[in-house]
Amino acid sequence: VKIEADRNPSYIVHVTAEMAPVAKVGGLGDVVTGLGRACLERGHKVLVMLPFYDCIDTQEVEDLTEAESFSSFHRGSWLPVKMFSGKVAGVPVLLVRTQEEFFKGVYQFDEVEAYLFFSRACLERMQVTGDQPDIIHIHEWHISILAMLYWDIYHHLSLKKPRIVLTIHNMEHYGECRVEQIDICGLDGSTYSTIDRAVDERTIGHNPERLSLLKGGIVFSNAVTTVSPTYADETLCSGWMANTLLKHRSKYTGILNGIDTKLWDPSNDPCLPMQYNAQNLFGKLVCKKYVQLGLGLDADNLLEDGSVLYKRKQTPLVICITRLVAQKGIHLIRHAISNIRERGAQFVLLGTAPDPRVQAEFEQMSQKFQKSKNIRLMNFYSEDLAHMLYAAGDIVLVPSMFEPCGLTQMIGMRYGAIPVVRRTGGLADTVFDVDDKRHKNKGNGFVFDGITEESLDTALNRALSYYHERREWWEDLTSCVMKLDHSWNKSAERYVELYNSVRVQ
Ligand code: ADP
Repeated sequence: VKIEADRNPSYIVHVTAEMAPVAKVGGLGDVVTGLGRACLERGHKVLVMLPFYDCIDTQEVEDLTEAESFSSFHRGSWLPVKMFSGKVAGVPVLLVRTQEEFFKGVYQFDEVEAYLFFSRACLERMQVTGDQPDIIHIHEWHISILAMLYWDIYHHLSLKKPRIVLTIHNMEHYGECRVEQIDICGLDGSTYSTIDRAVDERTIGHNPERLSLLKGGIVFSNAVTTVSPTYADETLCSGWMANTLLKHRSKYTGILNGIDTKLWDPSNDPCLPMQYNAQNLFGKLVCKKYVQLGLGLDADNLLEDGSVLYKRKQTPLVICITRLVAQKGIHLIRHAISNIRERGAQFVLLGTAPDPRVQAEFEQMSQKFQKSKNIRLMNFYSEDLAHMLYAAGDIVLVPSMFEPCGLTQMIGMRYGAIPVVRRTGGLADTVFDVDDKRHKNKGNGFVFDGITEESLDTALNRALSYYHERREWWEDLTSCVMKLDHSWNKSAERYVELYNSVRVQ
């Protein structure tokens, strides 16, 4: 699809702790690359500024070249900084390096101090080179200090043009820091220690009080976004940050993330034994059988002639690809395993737990099901296997307790796996229950409220029954969800509108 260039393009600089694939821990890295690329395609100028982490594979940075050197303020002195320019996944980048040992691998150092330094160095570079973007797009608490540094220092020097957009990817991380820590980057921390600025309201009355970098970022940015409209609403209603967000509501919106539709494309996916598309699902059946055989599960009875397939014996395959943390609804995932087993369906989990106790529990469970013909639990990380599972799955399960946006339901749909999700955050914005009359023709999955096992069953059991009872309907639904547009282009359009609304024309 040829994308038309926007009129009046902006110059956008992302300042971020993550960028896929060179420095990716979670969704943040994907957003920066996906959004950056989509804006480039629409004719905007985009640059990403990222710490030069030791773990960055320089092979993945095209045309890596040494660029400017200058000094940036930190702890009372000026430290030398070196910039390296290049391209990552087609997006121009500047990697920021210092002699200090700030960036030993993503997030394996004194994070607050390192990101204070990094944020200031990025502004300092704009100041010394005179390279002034229309928008400085900052992400999460890590870079939030940049909004304060900009309005308190750099806007009074020569940086007049930029406006600041902050995106919050997960409201769980507030960037707690002490008042004196703010002083490190050259601001007077005590001036931020008020309720309408950066004080962490949970610590009021305690001694010493703490600050929240994220809160400061919200207060001092020109616009604040989070990654789905429903999550934006939810965060206005609960959590201690709700007060601040309510106060700044007029500049706060939710914009859904997109997915990388080139990376996630069943019609052109090198990981799959057979590729397929919404018009011809035969390849999906081949992928399913391949995975079933490969994992030692009972395999579907497949005929070469795609048209009569739905009359043969088929077992619905539910997949779940996730980090195993409380946010993702671990207790419901556990329950799904036993429910699916009892109903004679199949379940494959691909997920790791950062908590060793949870990891051990799932590994033990995985042992228990080692010989099962219907259940397979895999507690490791594998991109290739993830691709195959999305292709093989009839149903993708996402029972999250909260979910700022969520990618697995969108990737699942692109590969023709019907989502079964809890109604929260981005899941509520992307999945609409097929039996909910309010959605008319929009129904694309199965949705439940509540957090109990019974509530999950109301959606999962319906999905499993419909799979058996309404074969043709299910196939049509599969084709339909594959055609939905969850590309970055659509989300980028919303971001561009936002950039235009805050930039100096
Ligand atoms: P979060 O960012 O909170 O982990 P998302 O749904 O936004 O959740 O993104 C999860 C991404 O990570 C998806 O692309 C999913 O396929 C991938 N993923 C999660 N666990 C694994 C795993 N064990 N192996 C491969 N990919 C995984």
